[in-house]
Amino acid sequence: MADPTDPTTSGPEETSPTRRPRAQAPARQDGASDPTGGKEEPGLLGQLFAPVAGFGVTFAQQFRKVPTQEYPEEKRPTAKRFHGRHQLNRHPDGLEKCVGCELCAWACPADAIYVEGADNIEGARFSPGERYGRVYQINYLRCIFCGLCIEACPTRALTMTNEYELADDSRRPLIYEKHQLLAPLRSDMLTPPFPMAEGMEERDYYRGHVTGPTQAQKDHVAAREAQAGHAQGDPNHEEVPR
Ligand code: SF4
Ligand code: SF4
Repeated sequence: MADPTDPTTSGPEETSPTRRPRAQAPARQDGASDPTGGKEEPGLLGQLFAPVAGFGVTFAQQFRKVPTQEYPEEKRPTAKRFHGRHQLNRHPDGLEKCVGCELCAWACPADAIYVEGADNIEGARFSPGERYGRVYQINYLRCIFCGLCIEACPTRALTMTNEYELADDSRRPLIYEKHQLLAPLRSDMLTPPFPMAEGMEERDYYRGHVTGPTQAQKDHVAAREAQAGHAQGDPNHEEVPR
């Protein structure tokens, strides 16, 4: 028997499989196998001006308006629903809407939010509910601006602004703290902590029954600020924890 590994072996005893001849592709009628794509070859004049036609595109471009943005001198307006920096909103009297429930942190796919809730105590109320967000951080090195956190927020405390200038040359400033995220106080708002509007419950805040600070709330804040002014020189004085 012939050695099957011997390449010189041939004849009827050869055991190596024989290759089937490659099937010929049927000729297509639509001209796809034609390198010209079925198009007619340009004439001599067409071939002569083909490179010039390419330059024509470049030439026409020189007369178009240059779309250079003079950033940062001129900021480009964003779309109305652009996802920018987050904001922690307030109720009309100045109390915070965040109740420290951490749902935003759980919803975040990038693990960019850190929340620590705390109980509102008598004399130190920051939100109308039982609890408030004592610590609130968003890490903008991780955030992908997907908006899932604002969808998850049950109190509409968290929304997104159109602010997009979130760059820095160091990592630390890009972890935003609560005081950076809180909405600024409007002129008619008070600085928490202070009690809820008298006669109102937490649900009344969400029903829009509170439209601004009451006189009792204003008096409370004024008294607190006067007391803080007196206590500044007192070494035993402690700031209300936030
Ligand atoms: S926008 Fe998306 S990535 Fe950014 S904090 Fe919210 S959930 Fe996380
Ligand atoms: S921002 Fe909204 S979801 Fe996040 S902790 Fe505050 S209330 Fe909860």
